[in-house]
Amino acid sequence: MPPIVETPASAAPSLWHGRWANEADTQAFATRLAACPAIHNATLTLQGDLGAGKTTFVRHLLRALGVRGRIKSPTYAVVEPHSAVDGPSGPTGAPLAIWHFDFYRFTDPREWEDAGFRELFASPGLKLVEWPERAAGLMPAVDADIHIEPEDTMPITSDEDADSPRSVSFTALTPTGQHLLAALQP
Ligand code: ADP
Ligand code: MG
Repeated sequence: MPPIVETPASAAPSLWHGRWANEADTQAFATRLAACPAIHNATLTLQGDLGAGKTTFVRHLLRALGVRGRIKSPTYAVVEPHSAVDGPSGPTGAPLAIWHFDFYRFTDPREWEDAGFRELFASPGLKLVEWPERAAGLMPAVDADIHIEPEDTMPITSDEDADSPRSVSFTALTPTGQHLLAALQP
């Protein structure tokens, strides 16, 4: 099924619907976003149930941006910093900084200030946020939201890592988000 782009009469498209038939599609989507310069200073939220594919998408995006080595998931640390050593450099010539947040276990709002999250979100670089709803009221402006939902399919295998289709929506919320959305067009 080709992606559907909804274009309100007088505005740039702000919503993209698509499908990841398998993880190769997830990777191709991540590669398109990685090629867009707007990704170098953006905040993206990821929504979807446990196992939807949020972390899998983040890993493909980090690889496509030039992050090397083992990519740890931040579940216990809330945030995992990365540096795109083989990728683009930021304004100072330093490698692009990427912060991967997972607020699944975030319960104490005081941690926001104590852990310096406000400063991290204000610093240049890419911020990727799983479970943003658990930090509602604390998160600054979001450029785009990606909603991932596994499609209902007959389980043909009990292997939870097996490739399976996802229904995906990308909502652009700022001009930066609009640039990223444009990069998704074929
Ligand atoms: P989340 O971070 O949303 O809880 P994960 O990314 O940790 O989810 O887990 C998603 C699981 O689904 C992984 O085991 C991944 O290999 C598998 N998977 C199967 N098909 C896909 C797909 N098309 N896109 C992303 N993940 C997929
Ligand atoms: Mg995850």
